[in-house]
Amino acid sequence: MPLRLTNTLTGHKEEFQPLHPPTVTLYVCGVTVYDHCHIGHARGAVVFDVLRRYLESGRQPFKVTYVRNITDVDDKIIERARAEAGRTGTELKTACREVAKKYEVSFREDFGRLGLVPPTHEPRATEFIPKMIGFIADLLKKEAAYEAPDAVYFSIRRFSEKHPYGQLSHQKLDEMREGVLVKPGEGKKDPLDFALWKKAKTGEPSWDSPWGPGRPGWHIECSTMSTTLLGDAFDIHGGGQDLIFPHHENELVQAEGAGKKFAKVWLHNGLLTVNNQKMSKSVGNIIRIQDALERHPPDVLRLFYLSAHYRSPIDFTWEHLGEIAHAYDRLATFLARADALDAGDGGAVLSDKVKEADRVFHEAMEDDLNTPRALAALFELVGHANDTRWLDNALMRSTVRVAKEKIRELGGLLGFFQVPDHVGAEAEQLVRERDEARRKKDFKKADQIRLRLIEQGYVVEDTSGKTVVRKRV
Ligand SMILES: [Zn+2]
Repeated sequence: MPLRLTNTLTGHKEEFQPLHPPTVTLYVCGVTVYDHCHIGHARGAVVFDVLRRYLESGRQPFKVTYVRNITDVDDKIIERARAEAGRTGTELKTACREVAKKYEVSFREDFGRLGLVPPTHEPRATEFIPKMIGFIADLLKKEAAYEAPDAVYFSIRRFSEKHPYGQLSHQKLDEMREGVLVKPGEGKKDPLDFALWKKAKTGEPSWDSPWGPGRPGWHIECSTMSTTLLGDAFDIHGGGQDLIFPHHENELVQAEGAGKKFAKVWLHNGLLTVNNQKMSKSVGNIIRIQDALERHPPDVLRLFYLSAHYRSPIDFTWEHLGEIAHAYDRLATFLARADALDAGDGGAVLSDKVKEADRVFHEAMEDDLNTPRALAALFELVGHANDTRWLDNALMRSTVRVAKEKIRELGGLLGFFQVPDHVGAEAEQLVRERDEARRKKDFKKADQIRLRLIEQGYVVEDTSGKTVVRKRV
């Protein structure tokens, strides 16, 4: 069955057909580097990591060109830098660069620890300023934009004579206008008009342009980076649901205003709450990726995200993450035990259960990336493999091996097992010593070593006369 994805633009689940197979072009809005990343950022990153992996390794493999940008010039960065500059006396422009650099490093560390495949291109907005200026000049020429004293604005009214504004967020102009406030000093003709180029205020980072020194608006950054790197028409544009309006609506209208086809499919992941509340500084309930990874390995966090459908909302509590860790433990235990078994005697029988798990898994993934159903198939197979009395039975043992390989293969498609469950060199040495002690029937020494391993945070099991350790989840 071909892959089907829910396209926010049409509101339908559609068969996915890339513009130029076997290549798939994918653009996902990345982070604005003004603070450490939180577990909401990680959700989006994991969702699109799974999409990319599945596109590349599913039953119909494609070759994905994946672009995820870094917004390194933005109001939030300037705001943060202003506070830093006030404290340290640094020049605002320098402080802006320092803030962006610091949080880009932090973001790279966090995303690296999550075991995400790095995108093909990771452009920084500040590297594309001349291209953005060209894009804006083109919009002015096509009369889709106008210059005001404070900024160059995109003209919604002018544009919507030809194209509907609100086609992505499925809203009417009046509904959208209701929620928009015009700030004093803004030279907009319509509340929904938005800045393409913000003219510089004193001390702010700025670049020269035909409209004087200034900086690009957030929306034009993404439209420029995506079309420059992927072409005027590309396959998939992704991001969180909170970006649909106004960010993506504006990206779309800008591209169409410049006569570009832009994204064929729009994919949006659902939002994350913490104890049913939106994460915010004022509530003080922001959980950083670092906080979660201090308590649990990355695969547990991944399992938490994938246990919900990507379009659904997901609520985070530490209790729930603990339950997820418990579930993951079943998977990790099975794999550690199965790994410790002798290779078996070949002639493996691919059991019906393994075939069934494979079929259900792929059907679920091809149906709009239904990861909860795919995971259920995976865990059912784990349950089946764990139930059998495989330890004493050669045939069962080889079946377990096949089950183990299938679990690793399917789990790998979801991005599991990429971050090694680090068993340190010291622990490996202790395992060897313990096995040696047991062979010599020195059970006292074996017990002492067992305790030392437990103290070091390992779970210790004896399987077929061998010591099996794994990090406690
Ligand atoms: Zn964007």
